Amino acid sequence: MPNRASIYAERSRIVILIFIGVFFVFWIRLFYLQILDSTYKTDAENNAFRKKTQYAGRGLIYDRNGELLVYNEAVYDLMIIPIQAANTDWAHLAELIEIDEAGAVQRYKKARAYSRYAPSVFEKQLSKETYGRLQEHLYMFPGFYVHSRTLRRYPHAVAAHVLGDVGEISEDELLRLEPEGYKSGDYIGKSGLEKYYENDLKGQKGVKMIMVDVLNREKGSYKDGAFDSAAIAGENLYTSLHLGLQAYAERLMKGRRGSVVAIEPKTGEILALVSSPGYDPNLLVGRKRSQNYQVLLNDTVKPLFDRALMAFYPPGSIFKIPQALIALQEGVIKPYTGFVCDRSLLGCHNHPSATSVPEGLKMSCNPYFYQVFKRVLMQGRSDNRFVDSRLGLDVWCEYMGRFGFGQQLDIDLPNVKTGFIPNSAFYDRIYGHNQWAFSTIYSLSIGQGEVGLIPLQMANLAATVANRGYYITPHIVKTIGEARRVPGRDTARHETGIDADFFEVVIRGMYGAVHEEGGTARRARIPHIAVCGKTGTSENPHGKDHSVFIAFAPMDDPQIAISVFIENHGFGGTWAAPLGSLLIEKYLTDTVTRPELERMLDDALKPVVAKPKPAERPQTREPLMAPLPQMMPQLGTAPLGMPSTGTPAPNVPQPQPSSPTPTTEP
Ligand SMILES: [Zn+2]
Repeated sequence: MPNRASIYAERSRIVILIFIGVFFVFWIRLFYLQILDSTYKTDAENNAFRKKTQYAGRGLIYDRNGELLVYNEAVYDLMIIPIQAANTDWAHLAELIEIDEAGAVQRYKKARAYSRYAPSVFEKQLSKETYGRLQEHLYMFPGFYVHSRTLRRYPHAVAAHVLGDVGEISEDELLRLEPEGYKSGDYIGKSGLEKYYENDLKGQKGVKMIMVDVLNREKGSYKDGAFDSAAIAGENLYTSLHLGLQAYAERLMKGRRGSVVAIEPKTGEILALVSSPGYDPNLLVGRKRSQNYQVLLNDTVKPLFDRALMAFYPPGSIFKIPQALIALQEGVIKPYTGFVCDRSLLGCHNHPSATSVPEGLKMSCNPYFYQVFKRVLMQGRSDNRFVDSRLGLDVWCEYMGRFGFGQQLDIDLPNVKTGFIPNSAFYDRIYGHNQWAFSTIYSLSIGQGEVGLIPLQMANLAATVANRGYYITPHIVKTIGEARRVPGRDTARHETGIDADFFEVVIRGMYGAVHEEGGTARRARIPHIAVCGKTGTSENPHGKDHSVFIAFAPMDDPQIAISVFIENHGFGGTWAAPLGSLLIEKYLTDTVTRPELERMLDDALKPVVAKPKPAERPQTREPLMAPLPQMMPQLGTAPLGMPSTGTPAPNVPQPQPSSPTPTTEP
């Protein structure tokens, strides 16, 4: 009989072997489950492990001097995995995050309908306080966890249209962009730079595997993060915007409708881009975003509509600049060609007849440019005046295209319009082939009629003149990311094909308009700075005329080219010119030496107490020409129901001139 000791030894060996065997089987099973069996893996993600998306911080946006325009702020999304959340105390949860219980159940059902296993956002963008309160109770809510994200913030609340906004991806966008890695609940650039540079700004999402205990508490990363991938932050945008100029332009345009565009001529860099009325970009962020968006959308003055890029207007007298240049280049006039101010051709104001191109521009004589345009169109290429006009217009259109008119300037913002330059085919459609001639379309000579420019094109015209013959595609982003990568955009010189000498001729006229007796832009004078400008008054069939001014300065070394367009504001020389002049001074000298101009502009917006009735005033202005049929082409529907030339909104106080109206100014 074996002794008891050997029996025990034998038994313990068996027990150990059994233990080892069982352990081995378990180990194999575990290996299989964790590594080989994907069904368990899915289950694991939903139970003991949580796969958390790590959202990348969007790139920041800076102005040209390194001032921060857009940064990120942390917020918290409450996530739900529906299959684990069936027994939730909805009343308690709703109370914690300040929503109603029915709404909470509704969200649960919606999430379950989307997927029972995959996480969905239950409540977006909890504040730090709400998050703090919820965190203490989170263990009571299996299937819920919190995800940190970031929202955009705008420390200066300027340039809303340019910067654009970020919102949750729509179903349409998701359908299109899912292959690129977008998921429901992701944020995406919706407008402005946020949209145009979405791929640079968005960065790359990461993943973190987190272990969770039975009480829904996160217990650190799984396998020391072996399966994690870090989020990669988006790239910063370094723009050409000048914060000080942008803010000052927005301040001067406040209460007015229209736009300001400022460009550095030699680089094509946009210094300021204002559409007024604007809005505080912080309104389109966070939980109040959709509510605020609706309010802005329904606002009768259309603050979401970017007038600088999307509204096109007859340019008025600033169009005399390209008219003169084309005629000089075609050789149909000389710099010293004079024309009598014959008001039987076109209405004009009281001034001596111009004996040169600079004088014609300085005094902005309408009959002068009637003759100039006539010579461009009717060059005697055919004895038939219809055919001759058609051939002339074809040449003219070609030149206009080289100024970037009637075509899209390739600015790095979405939704820029082309404006409109009418061509022969257009007039054939209206009047019939060989049924129109110069006499039909002469109103184009002074920038009225069917021609339409967007304010960006007007500023680009000023830049083209400043450069004596070419422009660089206007753009906002100078470099991307820390490597300062230059965006792959067209920044080539766009040549007008017009001699630099002819530009000097019109520059002489633009200088005279500002600095000489009889000039129409005298209110744009700045002490010690040679400003070259041109006023315009754009006829508005819907109401009061629009006030226009383009300029560049200093004359010999242009640093800034600008367009100011103010809707329903009357004469360009009275309003747009001083406003533009203040901006030029502010940019070039960082000071404003003429506060009286600021005051005049401010006063113009104050309610008028007692004014003489219009009938008591002398009639200062005769119609320039018989009204043309309204045939402004519809180049795509203006968004938000915005007509191409704005009509006055009924509830907006219309600015009134507070100073004596000049006799007339074309
Ligand atoms: Zn005249």
